[in-house]
Parts: sequence; structure tokens; C-alpha cells
Amino acid sequence: YSEEEKTEDYLFKIVLIGDSAVGKSNLLARFARDEFYPNSKSTIGVEFQTQKMNINGKEVKAQIWDTAGQERFRAVTSAYYRGAVGALLVYDISRRQTFDSVGKWLNELHTHSDMNVVTILIGNKTDLKDAREVSTDEGKDLAEAQGLFFMETSALDSSNVTAAFQTVVREIYNILS
Ligand code: GDP
Ligand code: MG
Repeated sequence: YSEEEKTEDYLFKIVLIGDSAVGKSNLLARFARDEFYPNSKSTIGVEFQTQKMNINGKEVKAQIWDTAGQERFRAVTSAYYRGAVGALLVYDISRRQTFDSVGKWLNELHTHSDMNVVTILIGNKTDLKDAREVSTDEGKDLAEAQGLFFMETSALDSSNVTAAFQTVVREIYNILS
């Protein structure tokens, strides 16, 4: 076989975490299907969605897990985190309370998965400019202090959504390949 014919399979489990209604399900819907739900309830959550991506010419599959709304009851189970190599920790830039919860989510992530899980902190809903309660610098500073990647996104207008998922997948690929 030539080098080209050797197909290696990469399947990375990535979890979406963060407070209820920050936009986790819509980030996944935007990324995987280019869809957005203006009034989504927890019902649109699927267990996981597998998305093929191309990283350095290699096909990589990202298996992205979404909650079915159980984060509202602080009942995200260890099965959700098991085997995860990446995480998107999402808050809503228009609700400071969701930013204040980031530490709690990081603790939970590190309790249930490997310390080295590649994590990106995401400030979602940048389209809500007039309602912003958390500055970009605050997000950046927290991410830097915790050793996380950082990006601000909008699932509504699509900005940075693909980039955020790609950042995590590329970094996992770089570490594991
Ligand atoms: P989840 O509970 O974290 O999965 O949040 P959802 O994806 O269900 O979104 C909660 C609500 O926020 C829904 O009404 C969405 O339409 C809305 N939403 C999600 N992302 C955005 C965004 O980027 N901008 C705005 N304006 N609304 C958003
Ligand atoms: Mg959801």
C-alpha cells in the first residue's frame, strides 16, 4: 500500500457543557446542519452528532455530545463525559450568571474526564450586542488563567461557530496523531 491508501480512522468524542439556554444545542445545530432554532427548548437535543472534518488532509470524525437539558437539574452523568477528549464550555455573553458558572463546569469536567481534555471556552450570542454583560477581555482572561482556548460565537449569525469546533478538533488531532 502507498501512504495514501492507508486510511487511519480518527473518532474524537467531544462534549458540550455549560448552563441551560446558553446555546449549546444551537451551536451544534449550526455547525452540523447549518440550522438555527429561534425558540428552542431542550427537546432539540440529540444524544450525539457525528461530523466529518478534514484536518491536514486526514478525515477526522468528531462525535459531538449534547445534553438533553439535564444540566438544568445538575444531573449530567459521568457517562456523558466518559471517553471525551474535547469539550466546548459555553456561556452566554448576555447573562453574567452563566459566566459565573464556568468554574463549576470545569470542576465537573475534570472530575469526570481526563485532566488533558482539550477545552475551549465559548462566549456565545455575540449578536446580542446591546445586552452584553461579559466583556471579551473577561472571557479571554479567564480562559488564559485556566489554560483554555477561547472564542466568542453566535449560533444565530454563524460567526466563529465552525472555527470553534475546528480549533478543538485540530488541537486533539495534533496531540493524538
Ligand atoms: P442550550 O440549553 O444551551 O442547549 O441552549 P439552546 O441552544 O437551546 O438555546 C437557548 C435559546 O437561546 C434558544 O431560544 C436559542 O434560539 C437561543 N440562542 C442560541 N444561540 C444563540 C445565539 O447565538 N444568539 C441568540 N440571539 N440566541 C441564541
Ligand atoms: Mg440544549
